[in-house]
Amino acid sequence: MARAPRLTIDVTDLRRRLGQRRDVEVDLDLDPIQVVETRSAGGPVTGMLVVESIERGVRVTGEIELGWVGECRRCLDEVEGSATGSIDEIFQVDAPDDGDLRDFDGELVDLVPVVTETVAFSLPLAPLCRSDCPGPDPERYPTTTEAELEAEAAAAPPVADPRWAALAELDLREEPG
Ligand SMILES: [Zn+2]
Repeated sequence: MARAPRLTIDVTDLRRRLGQRRDVEVDLDLDPIQVVETRSAGGPVTGMLVVESIERGVRVTGEIELGWVGECRRCLDEVEGSATGSIDEIFQVDAPDDGDLRDFDGELVDLVPVVTETVAFSLPLAPLCRSDCPGPDPERYPTTTEAELEAEAAAAPPVADPRWAALAELDLREEPG
């Protein structure tokens, strides 16, 4: 069995002075994480984090990079890419359960759950093999591409709803009766 990935840092020294910072390199071999039809490549997740000593804990910020593999939402071909995820987490001694803060013992910070969650949130849920992918059968099932939609939105001035125009033409004061 593969060794479970570990990224636990001891922040005892760091926490002796508020505002003290330390760089932590991320290079983790996580198991693939699947969200809908997209999964992380399972290769190394890399990045650089900064751990900063704050009141009652530490703050962890930085970015990670990961590869992913998925299915094009139009043609269903396999598509792969890379994504970046931002991390901004606070570990606090005796953090309340109901908040966004992560509880820790004041000494050891386990960054694996943070990185794992960030990977899951960074996966594209409906990827495209290319932005103008025409789909599997463009003759029978024409697909409007993002580029076309954007062009339409930019070109077309806001149009009044034709139902309002029809109502405006009615003269409500002269109801037959
Ligand atoms: Zn495609």
